[in-house]
Amino acid sequence: MARFSGATWKPISVNFTAKGQSSVRGLVVHIMAGTLAGTDSWFRNPAAKASSHFGTGKSGALYQWVDTANRAWAQADGNTSWLSIENEGQGGDALTSKQLDRIAEVFAWVHKTYGVPLQVASGPTGKGLGYHAMGGSAWGSHPSCPGSRIIAQLPEIVARAKKLAGTPAPQYAPFPGTAWFKKSPRSALVTAMGKRLVAEGCSAYASGPGPQWTESDRKSYAKWQKKRGFTGADADGWPGKTTWDALRVPKV
Ligand SMILES: [Zn+2]
Repeated sequence: MARFSGATWKPISVNFTAKGQSSVRGLVVHIMAGTLAGTDSWFRNPAAKASSHFGTGKSGALYQWVDTANRAWAQADGNTSWLSIENEGQGGDALTSKQLDRIAEVFAWVHKTYGVPLQVASGPTGKGLGYHAMGGSAWGSHPSCPGSRIIAQLPEIVARAKKLAGTPAPQYAPFPGTAWFKKSPRSALVTAMGKRLVAEGCSAYASGPGPQWTESDRKSYAKWQKKRGFTGADADGWPGKTTWDALRVPKV
């Protein structure tokens, strides 16, 4: 079993081969030609016959749908020995800087976990960071996935992954539980959390986050949850494990 702790675990129950990942040559970059939310729902549809291990959103969300011990269905013959990452956007788009960061984090983890070299792959029989079109017809013939602008960004992703691999992985605070927030706690963790919300563009904190969790914090958190595409119980302002992991609050 292998899951990247920096990703939000969004397991699917169809569209992958259990224990089918025979080896790992590297990570293959794709473009969704759609949204993260749309892709998340498509991968849950048995009619899709498609999936990927990971996926990024333009605003920096990172999902893991398939355990890397299992084979995702992303690039036909390339599935047995390559992991995959889908990316929100349309053909012809470049990736956002946040997407580059997320892919770099996954690639650094793939490097650490499977010994894959931190380099752009030379082709389907090479190793490193690859892209869908490099596999040609054997990989399902997708010449425009992920597109020339993204292919041009691969060296930048490798450079960022190298930086990450050279430093210890960031330590995130463990989820204290929803009940903890309901007690309106006064804690450095609440302040750290507020700082992360500000960094994510949460303007409700114009006067700065305070040390105590209050109703206004709940409202700010709900705004951020909606902005990041969470819905239902994940968008009610009460932190749950899924949204907490997505926020990445540093340890205090
Ligand atoms: Zn693709």
